[in-house]
Amino acid sequence: MGQGHLQQDELWDILILGGGPAGLTAGLYAARGDMRALLLEKLVAGGQAATTEWIENYPGFPEGISGPELAQKMEEQAVRFGLQVAHEEVQGLEVVEGDPRSFRVRTDRGVHQALAVILALGADWRELGVPGEEEFRGRGVSYCATCDGPFFRDQEVLVVGGGDTAVEEGIYLAKFARKVHIVHRRDRLRASALIQKRAFENPKVDFIWSTVVESIEGSQQVEKVRLKDLKTGNSWEKDCAGVFIFVGTTPNTQFLAGIVEMDERGYILTDEDMRTSVDGIFACGDARKKLLRQVITACGEGATAAFAAQQYVEKLKGTAYE
Ligand code: NAP
Repeated sequence: MGQGHLQQDELWDILILGGGPAGLTAGLYAARGDMRALLLEKLVAGGQAATTEWIENYPGFPEGISGPELAQKMEEQAVRFGLQVAHEEVQGLEVVEGDPRSFRVRTDRGVHQALAVILALGADWRELGVPGEEEFRGRGVSYCATCDGPFFRDQEVLVVGGGDTAVEEGIYLAKFARKVHIVHRRDRLRASALIQKRAFENPKVDFIWSTVVESIEGSQQVEKVRLKDLKTGNSWEKDCAGVFIFVGTTPNTQFLAGIVEMDERGYILTDEDMRTSVDGIFACGDARKKLLRQVITACGEGATAAFAAQQYVEKLKGTAYE
């Protein structure tokens, strides 16, 4: 990893916040563009892609590729071109007015300063918000099938949600579990047609329609859930050993309130060249307001953000090319 020795008082050309596919691609382009770029990532590189078992809609891999492997290759490629990576958790961003304007990023390990910032902060899994969810987190309640699926060999598990993630992860869990029940609040899925078809054809996957989870219960571990049928209003109990929650995501942008423009759900607004409402700050990937949240779109936006940031930095330095 290109961590090396980081000088706290160094003025970077570009700071990239977040090491998922968007941030890593921005890092690759910035480094190849001869920018002095530092990427800050609190955990391992790869973001949500790194916890996805198999990715089959990223071009170039006809058989598909595992999420962790793709993430690792992306990181290796960016580091090979000189991207610096530091494992630090970003806590704040401050605009430092002056000539030129710069940006100060506070982390759990110190402060970094740069002429431009690329926000590639990604999104975290959203919680369901029912009794028992917090209490049994890690004791039957999970947000990651790749991480926890093998613990549920030959047991019954519940998946909550009806989007691509819930259905795809439900199919993955069926490799281990005896039975996977996908509980969805409506009577039709949001997931794409191909993913739906695979789930309907899988004998270990079934669906509990128009139903919500009211509570998750047990003693040491999850033992059962209380469900409510929204059509009849009836509540009932279902035994299960695990509850996997995939009810969407929420962007990691809380610390940006009052700095860049966001929508009411906290997704960052940009123009088509990934510029935010603040000159010198760019955004890409899942934390951006957009139509399609996938690895391929994250990478494309990362490349554009880095190119736009490079143009911005070169203009500041007086070395811009038209
Ligand atoms: P999503 O598309 O937002 O779906 C969330 C699901 O959770 C919806 O079915 C929603 O129900 C349900 N839900 C939300 N709040 C709920 C609540 N409080 N109680 C019960 N159910 C609730 O999220 P996602 O599936 O995580 O996908 C996120 C993005 O990543 C999407 O753009 C998706 O296409 C993409 N993705 C793509 C792939 C792929 O291409 N293979 C794989 C994974 C994810 P409603 O349907 O009723 O709203």
